[in-house]
Amino acid sequence: MNQRIYVDNAATTKVNPQVLEAMLPYLGGTYGNPSSIYAEGREAKTAVETARAQVATAIGAEPNEIYFTGSGSEADNWAIRSVARSLKEKGNHIITTAVEHHAVLHTCQSLEKEGFEVTYLPVDAYGRVSAEDVKAAIKDTTVLITVMFANNEIGTLMPISQIGAVAKEAGVLFHTDAVQAIGMVPIDVKTMNIDLLSLTGHKFHGPKGSGALYVRKGVKLNSFITGGAQERGRRAGTENVPGIVGLGKAIELATADIPKKAAYLTQLRDRYISKILEQVPYAQLNGHPEERLPGNANISFSFIEGEGLLLFLDMKGISASSGSACTSGSLDPSHVLLAIGRKHEEAHGSLRCSFDMENTIEDVDAIVAAVSEIVARLRAMSPLYETFLKENK
Ligand SMILES: *Cc1c(COP(=O)(O)O)cnc(C)c1O
Repeated sequence: MNQRIYVDNAATTKVNPQVLEAMLPYLGGTYGNPSSIYAEGREAKTAVETARAQVATAIGAEPNEIYFTGSGSEADNWAIRSVARSLKEKGNHIITTAVEHHAVLHTCQSLEKEGFEVTYLPVDAYGRVSAEDVKAAIKDTTVLITVMFANNEIGTLMPISQIGAVAKEAGVLFHTDAVQAIGMVPIDVKTMNIDLLSLTGHKFHGPKGSGALYVRKGVKLNSFITGGAQERGRRAGTENVPGIVGLGKAIELATADIPKKAAYLTQLRDRYISKILEQVPYAQLNGHPEERLPGNANISFSFIEGEGLLLFLDMKGISASSGSACTSGSLDPSHVLLAIGRKHEEAHGSLRCSFDMENTIEDVDAIVAAVSEIVARLRAMSPLYETFLKENK
């Protein structure tokens, strides 16, 4: 098989060989339980604490503000449920946006069933929520603001520092799902006034099944899983030592030279976007032209189905995503694309390419050629397109 082109790095990434190397001993001979007091246990414990420091350093936190989880989804669930439940006496109102990841949205929806009131703020045509809207939504009963750092479908960056300032002024806790932003945008939880932050290793070349939640010192965190005293009594269960070691190494590598990486990815992204918009008629960029993740390009093509496009791309050796729930078997159009005002048909015809450092200019040009050809082919078979052409003669 020819070398495939993988541009679905927003879905997951390949484990970095240096990360794998760091993990291997802990899948083999170094198998101690971090809770044991003898030598093997101490060695595992040291590895976990080294990783905790690596995660903390990457986001400007202290090691004792980091809790390991089994995924980004778990970190989101934990953050939101813990704050909601522990501050129930103070109030029952949560502010979020219409474009969050389902790990946040479905958690908020389940809290509504428990009597919480949730405001789902709208976003502008680029997918950004305004800090003024967040401020205006705050009530006496508001206990939490949860707004994602960067959108996983359209790449739009939210005004996190401004929202952090609004939250701080109002004395409301601020959580951000930073899963897509880690290693792509510099993050400092202190200067950005972030109280809780979720991240996950497999989005930045770490292993799957290892995530972390940052919780600012002084914020009460309820236990998520009860049992043993792991994670300072907040999350029971013997630690995933190899996963944690991999997460630590991966975040260190991912945040080592963000400006250089961002410059390279921006170049790939912008080349792809401008070529597609130049060569393919009836195509629209989704998300903000500049305030977006350096590697994310999401484009809607009218008159076609994203799934068809994905299948033909796959046959040409290109792995991309429709960036919507369609890929996971649901026929609902993406809630994110609907929130930025795309019509149902447009939302169905979207393609997300998420580039990474292994991609090249040649990859971009090959994808552009494949997409132009396939879109033309699908449109030639599309009754919608035929009708459109007749009506617009
Ligand atoms: C991938 C993703 C998650 C979920 O992370 P998992 O580790 O796969 O559970 C949450 N939020 C965003 C924005 C994501 O992109």
